[in-house]
Amino acid sequence: MKLKLSQADIDGAEVQLIERVSGEEMKRCYQCGNCSGGCPVAYAMEVPPSQIMRFLQLGMVDEVMGANSMWVCVGCLQCSSRCPQGVSVASVLEGLRQITLRKGTDKTRVADIPARFLEKAPQQAIVCGFRKFVS
Ligand code: SF4
Ligand code: SF4
Repeated sequence: MKLKLSQADIDGAEVQLIERVSGEEMKRCYQCGNCSGGCPVAYAMEVPPSQIMRFLQLGMVDEVMGANSMWVCVGCLQCSSRCPQGVSVASVLEGLRQITLRKGTDKTRVADIPARFLEKAPQQAIVCGFRKFVS
């Protein structure tokens, strides 16, 4: 018998993977918006932190994976400290980055970084950037 998976099954499995990698349970979020309200870079995100949680609750993985939010997040943990439910959107975004990078999908191509920038940038910034954007 051929097993046919529906799109909902596939999306559900992907959300489970995100929960496993991030260590966060999407259903704990009750959409108070505190995380988005305190995030210093929400203005630059295509999908702000609270909406990331809502999309994942609804199984809308493609919308989350396609947004720039996981790359824009600076890991300040403001969202985690403000969440009344003890949810860390920072961990969810880190999980999304890890899943993407483990597939070998780099956000930045090292060869594309201008040599003049590399000469002047602090070494620590370069190492941190590679850790975040390159698999
Ligand atoms: S950790 Fe990321 S998502 Fe959370 S408040 Fe800081 S920048 Fe925003
Ligand atoms: S602060 Fe917590 S409960 Fe409120 S929207 Fe963000 S993740 Fe959900």
